[in-house]
Amino acid sequence: MTQDREPGFDTLAVHAGAAPDPATGARATPIYQTAAYVFDNVDHAAALFNLETFGNIYTRIMNPTEAVLEERVAALEGGTAGLAVASGHAAQYVTFHTLMSPGDEFIAARQLYGGSINQFNQSFKKSDWRVVWADADDPSSFEAAVTDKTKAIFIESLANPGGVVTDIEAIGKIAKSAGVPLIVDNTLATPYLCRPIEHGADIIIHSLTKFLGGHGTSLGGILIDCGTFDWLASGRFPTLSEPCESYHGIRMAETFGDFGFAIAARVLALRDLGPCISPFNAFLLLTGIETLSLRMRRHCDNALAVAQWLEGHDKIAWVNYAGLEGSRYRELAKKYCPKGAGAVFTFGLKGGFDAGVKLVESVQIFSHLANIGDTKSLIIHPASTTHRQLTDEQRAAAGAGDDVVRLSIGIEDKDDIIGDLEQAFAQL
Ligand SMILES: *Cc1c(COP(=O)(O)O)cnc(C)c1O
Repeated sequence: MTQDREPGFDTLAVHAGAAPDPATGARATPIYQTAAYVFDNVDHAAALFNLETFGNIYTRIMNPTEAVLEERVAALEGGTAGLAVASGHAAQYVTFHTLMSPGDEFIAARQLYGGSINQFNQSFKKSDWRVVWADADDPSSFEAAVTDKTKAIFIESLANPGGVVTDIEAIGKIAKSAGVPLIVDNTLATPYLCRPIEHGADIIIHSLTKFLGGHGTSLGGILIDCGTFDWLASGRFPTLSEPCESYHGIRMAETFGDFGFAIAARVLALRDLGPCISPFNAFLLLTGIETLSLRMRRHCDNALAVAQWLEGHDKIAWVNYAGLEGSRYRELAKKYCPKGAGAVFTFGLKGGFDAGVKLVESVQIFSHLANIGDTKSLIIHPASTTHRQLTDEQRAAAGAGDDVVRLSIGIEDKDDIIGDLEQAFAQL
Protein backbone atom coordinates (compact mmCIF):
# COMPACT_ATOMS: atom_id res chain seq x y z
CA MET A 1 0.00 0.00 0.00
CA THR A 2 1.38 3.37 -0.93
CA GLN A 3 0.11 6.55 0.59
CA ASP A 4 1.07 10.05 -0.42
CA ARG A 5 -0.37 11.69 2.62
CA GLU A 6 1.56 12.25 5.84
CA PRO A 7 0.14 10.15 8.67
CA GLY A 8 -2.37 12.01 10.83
CA PHE A 9 -2.06 12.67 14.54
CA ASP A 10 -4.08 9.63 15.64
CA THR A 11 -2.03 7.32 13.42
CA LEU A 12 1.20 8.73 14.83
CA ALA A 13 -0.12 8.29 18.38
CA VAL A 14 -0.49 4.55 17.70
CA HIS A 15 2.46 3.87 15.39
CA ALA A 16 5.22 6.50 15.48
CA GLY A 17 8.59 5.06 16.43
CA ALA A 18 7.33 1.47 16.65
CA ALA A 19 7.37 -1.61 14.41
CA PRO A 20 6.79 -5.30 15.06
CA ASP A 21 9.84 -6.66 16.88
CA PRO A 22 12.22 -8.01 14.19
CA ALA A 23 13.55 -10.74 16.51
CA THR A 24 10.21 -12.21 17.68
CA GLY A 25 7.38 -10.62 15.70
CA ALA A 26 5.92 -9.24 18.94
CA ARG A 27 3.37 -6.58 17.94
CA ALA A 28 3.50 -4.56 21.15
CA THR A 29 6.72 -2.69 21.83
CA PRO A 30 8.81 -5.03 24.03
CA ILE A 31 10.00 -3.89 27.44
CA TYR A 32 13.77 -4.06 27.01
CA GLN A 33 14.46 -4.64 30.68
CA THR A 34 18.23 -4.59 30.49
CA ALA A 35 20.89 -2.40 32.02
CA ALA A 36 23.46 -2.86 29.23
CA TYR A 37 24.00 -4.10 25.66
CA VAL A 38 26.66 -6.43 24.20
CA PHE A 39 29.15 -4.81 21.80
CA ASP A 40 29.84 -6.47 18.42
CA ASN A 41 33.58 -6.05 18.99
CA VAL A 42 36.12 -3.56 20.33
CA ASP A 43 35.87 -1.26 17.29
CA HIS A 44 32.07 -1.13 17.63
CA ALA A 45 32.41 -0.25 21.32
CA ALA A 46 34.90 2.50 20.51
CA ALA A 47 32.63 3.96 17.82
CA LEU A 48 29.68 3.99 20.25
CA PHE A 49 31.67 5.71 22.99
CA ASN A 50 32.98 8.29 20.49
CA LEU A 51 29.41 9.03 19.27
CA GLU A 52 30.55 8.01 15.78
CA THR A 53 27.72 5.51 15.45
CA PHE A 54 24.25 5.35 17.02
CA GLY A 55 23.60 2.40 19.29
CA ASN A 56 22.98 1.23 22.79
CA ILE A 57 25.56 1.24 25.56
CA TYR A 58 23.87 1.50 28.93
CA THR A 59 20.25 2.20 29.97
CA ARG A 60 21.14 5.34 31.94
CA ILE A 61 21.77 6.92 28.52
CA MET A 62 19.44 5.07 26.14
CA ASN A 63 17.11 2.06 25.83
CA PRO A 64 15.09 0.69 22.89
CA THR A 65 11.70 0.90 24.67
CA GLU A 66 12.46 4.47 25.66
CA ALA A 67 13.58 5.24 22.09
CA VAL A 68 10.07 4.39 20.83
CA LEU A 69 8.55 6.70 23.44
CA GLU A 70 10.95 9.49 22.43
CA GLU A 71 10.21 9.12 18.74
CA ARG A 72 6.46 8.95 19.40
CA VAL A 73 6.21 12.16 21.41
CA ALA A 74 8.64 13.98 19.09
CA ALA A 75 6.38 13.01 16.15
CA LEU A 76 3.24 14.22 17.93
CA GLU A 77 4.89 17.56 18.73
CA GLY A 78 6.53 17.91 15.32
CA GLY A 79 10.03 18.12 16.82
CA THR A 80 13.29 16.56 15.59
CA ALA A 81 14.08 14.37 18.63
CA GLY A 82 13.11 13.66 22.20
CA LEU A 83 14.79 12.64 25.42
CA ALA A 84 12.71 10.73 27.97
CA VAL A 85 13.71 10.98 31.62
CA ALA A 86 12.45 10.01 35.06
CA SER A 87 9.90 12.82 35.57
CA GLY A 88 8.76 16.20 34.33
CA HIS A 89 11.02 17.90 36.84
CA ALA A 90 13.97 15.82 35.65
CA ALA A 91 13.21 17.02 32.09
CA GLN A 92 13.36 20.62 33.31
CA TYR A 93 16.60 20.04 35.22
CA VAL A 94 18.29 18.28 32.29
CA THR A 95 17.13 21.06 29.92
CA PHE A 96 18.49 23.90 32.04
CA HIS A 97 21.71 22.00 32.79
CA THR A 98 22.31 21.90 29.04
CA LEU A 99 21.57 25.60 28.54
CA MET A 100 22.89 27.38 31.60
CA SER A 101 26.24 28.26 33.14
CA PRO A 102 26.70 29.57 36.68
CA GLY A 103 25.59 33.22 36.87
CA ASP A 104 23.11 32.90 33.98
CA GLU A 105 19.47 33.96 34.18
CA PHE A 106 16.24 32.78 32.61
CA ILE A 107 12.80 34.36 32.57
CA ALA A 108 9.77 32.32 33.63
CA ALA A 109 6.06 33.02 33.85
CA ARG A 110 4.95 33.51 37.43
CA GLN A 111 1.88 31.37 36.65
CA LEU A 112 3.44 27.89 36.75
CA TYR A 113 2.93 24.51 38.37
CA GLY A 114 3.84 24.99 42.07
CA GLY A 115 6.61 22.40 41.90
CA SER A 116 8.28 24.29 39.06
CA ILE A 117 8.18 27.51 41.09
CA ASN A 118 9.97 25.70 43.94
CA GLN A 119 12.52 24.07 41.61
CA PHE A 120 13.37 27.38 39.93
CA ASN A 121 13.43 29.45 43.14
CA GLN A 122 15.19 27.02 45.47
CA SER A 123 17.11 24.19 43.81
CA PHE A 124 18.35 26.05 40.74
CA LYS A 125 19.91 28.65 43.05
CA LYS A 126 22.43 26.00 44.13
CA SER A 127 23.75 25.92 40.56
CA ASP A 128 23.74 29.73 40.51
CA TRP A 129 21.01 29.81 37.85
CA ARG A 130 18.74 32.75 38.56
CA VAL A 131 15.04 32.82 37.65
CA VAL A 132 13.47 36.21 36.87
CA TRP A 133 9.68 36.10 37.11
CA ALA A 134 7.38 37.67 34.54
CA ASP A 135 3.60 37.77 34.06
CA ALA A 136 2.08 35.30 31.59
CA ASP A 137 -0.85 37.69 31.12
CA ASP A 138 1.50 40.50 30.04
CA PRO A 139 4.00 39.47 27.34
CA SER A 140 5.75 42.86 27.59
CA SER A 141 6.88 41.92 31.12
CA PHE A 142 9.12 39.27 29.51
CA GLU A 143 10.68 41.86 27.22
CA ALA A 144 11.35 44.14 30.20
CA ALA A 145 13.11 41.30 32.06
CA VAL A 146 15.66 40.49 29.32
CA THR A 147 19.30 41.17 30.21
CA ASP A 148 22.59 40.07 28.62
CA LYS A 149 22.60 37.13 31.08
CA THR A 150 19.21 35.81 29.91
CA LYS A 151 19.55 32.32 28.40
CA ALA A 152 15.95 31.14 28.01
CA ILE A 153 12.28 31.97 28.46
CA PHE A 154 10.04 29.35 30.11
CA ILE A 155 6.23 29.27 29.99
CA GLU A 156 3.36 26.77 30.26
CA SER A 157 0.91 26.65 27.33
CA LEU A 158 -2.02 26.04 29.66
CA ALA A 159 -0.84 27.04 33.13
CA ASN A 160 -1.47 24.84 36.13
CA PRO A 161 -3.58 25.59 38.18
CA GLY A 162 -4.77 29.09 37.25
CA GLY A 163 -6.58 28.27 34.01
CA VAL A 164 -4.22 30.62 32.16
CA VAL A 165 -3.77 30.32 28.40
CA THR A 166 -0.42 31.86 27.50
CA ASP A 167 0.12 33.96 24.38
CA ILE A 168 2.91 31.68 23.12
CA GLU A 169 3.42 33.55 19.85
CA ALA A 170 3.87 36.96 21.49
CA ILE A 171 6.38 35.61 24.01
CA GLY A 172 8.09 33.55 21.31
CA LYS A 173 8.79 36.74 19.36
CA ILE A 174 10.37 38.27 22.46
CA ALA A 175 12.58 35.19 22.90
CA LYS A 176 13.61 35.38 19.27
CA SER A 177 14.60 39.03 19.42
CA ALA A 178 16.49 38.34 22.68
CA GLY A 179 18.33 35.49 20.91
CA VAL A 180 17.28 32.82 23.42
CA PRO A 181 15.20 29.64 23.11
CA LEU A 182 11.53 29.58 24.12
CA ILE A 183 10.80 26.57 26.36
CA VAL A 184 7.14 25.56 26.60
CA ASP A 185 5.82 23.15 29.22
CA ASN A 186 2.93 21.59 27.26
CA THR A 187 1.87 19.12 29.97
CA LEU A 188 -1.71 20.28 30.51
CA ALA A 189 -2.57 20.73 26.86
CA THR A 190 -0.70 17.75 25.34
CA PRO A 191 0.13 17.96 21.63
CA TYR A 192 -3.46 16.92 20.91
CA LEU A 193 -4.79 20.28 22.11
CA CYS A 194 -1.81 22.58 21.51
CA ARG A 195 1.22 22.48 19.22
CA PRO A 196 3.73 24.97 20.65
CA ILE A 197 6.16 24.39 17.76
CA GLU A 198 3.70 26.14 15.44
CA HIS A 199 3.81 29.24 17.65
CA GLY A 200 7.54 29.70 18.24
CA ALA A 201 8.66 27.06 20.78
CA ASP A 202 12.26 25.82 20.52
CA ILE A 203 12.12 23.23 23.30
CA ILE A 204 8.98 21.50 24.62
CA ILE A 205 8.78 19.88 28.06
CA HIS A 206 6.24 17.35 29.29
CA SER A 207 5.45 15.66 32.50
CA LEU A 208 4.42 12.33 30.90
CA THR A 209 2.95 11.46 34.31
CA LYS A 210 -0.18 13.46 33.43
CA PHE A 211 -2.40 13.29 30.32
CA LEU A 212 0.15 11.71 27.96
CA GLY A 213 0.51 8.59 30.11
CA GLY A 214 -3.01 9.31 31.21
CA HIS A 215 -3.69 6.61 33.80
CA GLY A 216 -1.87 7.83 36.91
CA THR A 217 0.42 4.80 36.96
CA SER A 218 3.91 6.03 36.09
CA LEU A 219 6.25 8.96 36.50
CA GLY A 220 8.02 10.17 33.41
CA GLY A 221 9.13 13.31 31.61
CA ILE A 222 10.40 14.25 28.19
CA LEU A 223 12.09 17.14 26.45
CA ILE A 224 11.53 17.69 22.75
CA ASP A 225 14.10 19.43 20.57
CA CYS A 226 12.14 21.43 17.99
CA GLY A 227 15.26 21.82 15.83
CA THR A 228 14.49 25.51 15.42
CA PHE A 229 17.27 27.22 17.39
CA ASP A 230 20.65 27.94 15.77
CA TRP A 231 23.08 27.25 18.63
CA LEU A 232 26.19 27.71 16.50
CA ALA A 233 25.13 31.10 15.16
CA SER A 234 24.18 32.20 18.67
CA GLY A 235 27.47 31.19 20.29
CA ARG A 236 25.98 31.92 23.73
CA PHE A 237 25.49 28.28 24.72
CA PRO A 238 28.95 26.73 25.21
CA THR A 239 27.64 23.20 25.91
CA LEU A 240 26.24 23.17 22.38
CA SER A 241 28.73 25.22 20.41
CA GLU A 242 32.14 24.72 22.07
CA PRO A 243 34.41 21.66 21.62
CA CYS A 244 33.28 19.00 24.08
CA GLU A 245 36.03 17.61 26.31
CA SER A 246 34.36 14.29 27.02
CA TYR A 247 33.84 13.47 23.29
CA HIS A 248 37.20 14.32 21.67
CA GLY A 249 36.40 17.94 20.97
CA ILE A 250 33.26 17.54 18.83
CA ARG A 251 30.75 20.42 18.86
CA MET A 252 27.28 19.06 19.64
CA ALA A 253 25.36 21.55 17.47
CA GLU A 254 27.76 21.06 14.56
CA THR A 255 27.91 17.24 14.60
CA PHE A 256 24.20 16.67 15.33
CA GLY A 257 22.62 19.69 13.62
CA ASP A 258 18.93 20.22 14.27
CA PHE A 259 18.79 17.58 17.01
CA GLY A 260 22.01 18.71 18.71
CA PHE A 261 20.17 19.92 21.77
CA ALA A 262 18.51 16.54 22.39
CA ILE A 263 21.85 14.74 21.95
CA ALA A 264 23.73 17.12 24.25
CA ALA A 265 21.01 16.74 26.90
CA ARG A 266 21.35 12.93 26.61
CA VAL A 267 25.10 12.37 26.39
CA LEU A 268 26.12 15.15 28.80
CA ALA A 269 23.31 16.08 31.21
CA LEU A 270 21.47 12.75 31.49
CA ARG A 271 24.73 10.78 31.38
CA ASP A 272 26.17 12.72 34.31
CA LEU A 273 23.08 13.63 36.36
CA GLY A 274 21.45 10.22 35.95
CA PRO A 275 17.65 10.75 36.17
CA CYS A 276 16.77 8.06 33.61
CA ILE A 277 13.29 6.60 33.15
CA SER A 278 12.72 2.86 33.62
CA PRO A 279 11.91 0.78 30.51
CA PHE A 280 8.75 -0.44 32.26
CA ASN A 281 7.48 3.10 32.85
CA ALA A 282 8.31 3.96 29.24
CA PHE A 283 6.18 0.98 28.13
CA LEU A 284 3.19 2.03 30.27
CA LEU A 285 3.42 5.64 29.10
CA LEU A 286 3.67 4.53 25.47
CA THR A 287 0.56 2.38 25.87
CA GLY A 288 -1.29 5.37 27.33
CA ILE A 289 -0.33 7.61 24.42
CA GLU A 290 -2.06 5.26 21.94
CA THR A 291 -5.44 6.51 23.22
CA LEU A 292 -4.43 10.14 23.74
CA SER A 293 -6.92 11.77 21.42
CA LEU A 294 -9.84 9.57 22.50
CA ARG A 295 -9.16 10.42 26.12
CA MET A 296 -8.53 14.13 25.55
CA ARG A 297 -11.80 14.55 23.65
CA ARG A 298 -13.70 12.94 26.52
CA HIS A 299 -11.72 14.86 29.17
CA CYS A 300 -12.54 18.16 27.43
CA ASP A 301 -16.24 17.36 26.91
CA ASN A 302 -16.65 16.38 30.56
CA ALA A 303 -14.66 19.38 31.81
CA LEU A 304 -16.81 21.80 29.83
CA ALA A 305 -20.02 20.22 31.16
CA VAL A 306 -18.77 20.37 34.76
CA ALA A 307 -17.55 23.99 34.36
CA GLN A 308 -20.90 25.07 32.91
CA TRP A 309 -22.76 23.36 35.77
CA LEU A 310 -20.50 24.96 38.39
CA GLU A 311 -21.01 28.41 36.87
CA GLY A 312 -24.67 28.33 37.83
CA HIS A 313 -24.17 27.01 41.39
CA ASP A 314 -24.97 29.30 44.35
CA LYS A 315 -21.95 28.15 46.45
CA ILE A 316 -19.51 29.07 43.69
CA ALA A 317 -17.98 32.53 43.41
CA TRP A 318 -16.25 32.06 40.06
CA VAL A 319 -15.11 29.39 37.58
CA ASN A 320 -11.83 29.76 35.70
CA TYR A 321 -12.12 27.53 32.64
CA ALA A 322 -10.91 28.82 29.29
CA GLY A 323 -13.62 26.78 27.55
CA LEU A 324 -16.37 28.98 29.00
CA GLU A 325 -17.67 31.81 26.84
CA GLY A 326 -17.15 34.35 29.62
CA SER A 327 -13.50 33.41 30.28
CA ARG A 328 -10.89 36.13 29.84
CA TYR A 329 -8.79 33.46 28.09
CA ARG A 330 -11.52 32.44 25.60
CA GLU A 331 -9.89 34.11 22.56
CA LEU A 332 -6.41 32.79 23.40
CA ALA A 333 -7.89 29.33 23.94
CA LYS A 334 -9.55 29.42 20.50
CA LYS A 335 -6.20 30.28 18.96
CA TYR A 336 -3.89 27.91 20.88
CA CYS A 337 -6.25 25.07 21.95
CA PRO A 338 -8.96 25.00 19.30
CA LYS A 339 -10.05 21.43 20.12
CA GLY A 340 -10.75 22.13 23.78
CA ALA A 341 -9.43 23.94 26.82
CA GLY A 342 -8.17 20.86 28.65
CA ALA A 343 -9.55 19.19 31.75
CA VAL A 344 -7.78 20.98 34.62
CA PHE A 345 -9.35 24.13 35.99
CA THR A 346 -10.07 25.99 39.17
CA PHE A 347 -13.13 27.48 40.80
CA GLY A 348 -13.68 29.63 43.87
CA LEU A 349 -15.85 28.65 46.83
CA LYS A 350 -17.81 31.41 48.53
CA GLY A 351 -16.98 29.63 51.83
CA GLY A 352 -13.20 30.15 51.41
CA PHE A 353 -10.48 27.98 53.00
CA ASP A 354 -12.77 26.00 55.35
CA ALA A 355 -15.23 25.17 52.57
CA GLY A 356 -12.32 23.96 50.41
CA VAL A 357 -11.13 21.60 53.12
CA LYS A 358 -14.68 20.29 53.73
CA LEU A 359 -15.32 19.76 50.01
CA VAL A 360 -12.24 17.61 49.39
CA GLU A 361 -13.24 15.50 52.41
CA SER A 362 -16.81 15.02 51.16
CA VAL A 363 -16.35 13.83 47.57
CA GLN A 364 -16.71 10.13 46.72
CA ILE A 365 -15.96 9.66 43.01
CA PHE A 366 -13.29 12.37 42.98
CA SER A 367 -10.01 11.40 44.61
CA HIS A 368 -8.33 13.94 46.86
CA LEU A 369 -4.71 13.85 45.73
CA ALA A 370 -1.85 15.82 44.22
CA ASN A 371 -1.97 14.76 40.60
CA ILE A 372 -3.73 15.65 37.38
CA GLY A 373 -4.35 13.98 34.04
CA ASP A 374 -5.71 10.63 35.20
CA THR A 375 -8.71 8.80 33.70
CA LYS A 376 -10.15 9.27 37.22
CA SER A 377 -11.52 12.62 38.37
CA LEU A 378 -9.23 14.31 40.88
CA ILE A 379 -9.66 17.21 43.30
CA ILE A 380 -7.32 19.29 45.40
CA HIS A 381 -7.42 22.44 47.51
CA PRO A 382 -4.05 23.98 46.57
CA ALA A 383 -3.81 26.38 49.54
CA SER A 384 -3.77 23.47 52.01
CA THR A 385 -1.58 21.15 49.89
CA THR A 386 0.47 21.77 46.70
CA HIS A 387 0.91 25.52 47.22
CA ARG A 388 1.28 25.61 51.01
CA GLN A 389 5.06 26.20 50.77
CA LEU A 390 4.52 29.47 48.93
CA THR A 391 3.87 32.88 50.45
CA ASP A 392 0.32 34.33 50.28
CA GLU A 393 1.52 36.65 47.53
CA GLN A 394 3.03 33.83 45.45
CA ARG A 395 -0.13 31.76 45.98
CA ALA A 396 -2.36 34.54 44.74
CA ALA A 397 -0.06 35.12 41.74
CA ALA A 398 -0.16 31.40 40.91
CA GLY A 399 -3.98 31.37 41.06
CA ALA A 400 -4.04 29.33 44.27
CA GLY A 401 -5.67 31.56 46.89
CA ASP A 402 -7.57 30.23 49.95
CA ASP A 403 -10.93 29.80 48.19
CA VAL A 404 -9.50 27.99 45.15
CA VAL A 405 -10.29 24.34 44.36
CA ARG A 406 -8.62 22.58 41.44
CA LEU A 407 -10.29 19.81 39.47
CA SER A 408 -8.82 17.40 36.96
CA ILE A 409 -11.86 15.97 35.23
CA GLY A 410 -11.68 12.29 34.32
CA ILE A 411 -13.42 10.21 31.69
CA GLU A 412 -16.22 8.81 33.89
CA ASP A 413 -19.91 9.53 33.07
CA LYS A 414 -20.33 13.26 33.36
CA ASP A 415 -23.62 12.96 35.23
CA ASP A 416 -21.84 10.95 37.92
CA ILE A 417 -19.04 13.52 38.18
CA ILE A 418 -21.56 16.36 38.56
CA GLY A 419 -23.68 14.27 40.95
CA ASP A 420 -20.66 13.73 43.20
CA LEU A 421 -19.96 17.45 43.38
CA GLU A 422 -23.65 18.11 44.04
CA GLN A 423 -23.79 15.78 47.05
CA ALA A 424 -20.50 17.22 48.40
CA PHE A 425 -21.70 20.83 48.02
CA ALA A 426 -24.83 19.88 49.97
CA GLN A 427 -22.57 19.11 52.95
CA LEU A 428 -20.87 22.54 53.01
C1 LIG B 1 3.38 17.62 37.16
C2 LIG B 1 3.93 18.73 36.40
C3 LIG B 1 5.31 18.93 36.30
C4 LIG B 1 6.31 18.04 37.00
O1 LIG B 1 6.24 16.73 36.49
P1 LIG B 1 6.62 15.42 37.35
O2 LIG B 1 6.43 14.31 36.38
O3 LIG B 1 5.66 15.38 38.51
O4 LIG B 1 8.02 15.62 37.81
C5 LIG B 1 5.76 19.99 35.54
N1 LIG B 1 4.91 20.83 34.92
C6 LIG B 1 3.58 20.67 34.99
C7 LIG B 1 2.68 21.61 34.27
C8 LIG B 1 3.03 19.63 35.73
O5 LIG B 1 1.71 19.47 35.79
